[in-house]
Amino acid sequence: MSNSGIFFVISAPSGTGKSTVIDLLLKELPFLKKPVSFTTRDPRPGEKDHIDYNFISKQEFKAKMDKGDFIEWATVYDNFYATSLDYINKELEKGSIMIKDIDTQGALQLKKVLGKKVVLIFIEPPSLQELENRIRARNKDNKAVIQTRMNAAMNEMAEASKYDHRVINDRIENAVLEIKKIIDGHKK
Ligand code: ADP
Ligand code: 5GP
Repeated sequence: MSNSGIFFVISAPSGTGKSTVIDLLLKELPFLKKPVSFTTRDPRPGEKDHIDYNFISKQEFKAKMDKGDFIEWATVYDNFYATSLDYINKELEKGSIMIKDIDTQGALQLKKVLGKKVVLIFIEPPSLQELENRIRARNKDNKAVIQTRMNAAMNEMAEASKYDHRVINDRIENAVLEIKKIIDGHKK
């Protein structure tokens, strides 16, 4: 069994820019692979089943949970999300270098189970005001949802000290470069 596989897990409050950063890294570093998680939320326009997520019902999710199919699972904004145990173990054995955004509960659980094979990277917004600006600019959420996201952001940011690395997403190109250096440093 090879030990060279590694899983870079990215967490950040909603609106910080983690999807933007991960999409750029996947384009710029073609060896990176994004694991496909399970979720009970509905697909958004343009999202494809088995590519963006495995979209499943709450009943299917519960059945998989009871069978022990998940290495971690969490509830995020009323939907369930989980990482497949079998998928991650197989990819790590193959030596895959993976990157995926996972919420803070799931990320810390992954670290507990997989130890050094998981590298936790927390992306922080330059300020709470800028975070709110980005959420507003993204134009996806109403006022109440924005407030919920800002409250959740405080709780998530309190977990940042438990991460292996912290990166501030001020200028996007700097954040991407910093994460590339982190990946390089761990990829042996
Ligand atoms: P997340 O995946 O963390 O919820 P997104 O990647 O959707 O966040 O980014 C939220 C919004 O902020 C998007 O409109 C995105 O274009 C913008 N954004 C991302 N990074 C930056 C940055 N460094 N500076 C300014 N705007 C950014
Ligand atoms: P979205 O629905 O916007 O894709 O993701 C919502 C939140 O769920 C994000 O914080 C994202 O990081 C988190 N998430 C995505 N996949 C997983 C997963 O497999 N496990 C956990 N715990 N969280 C996930």
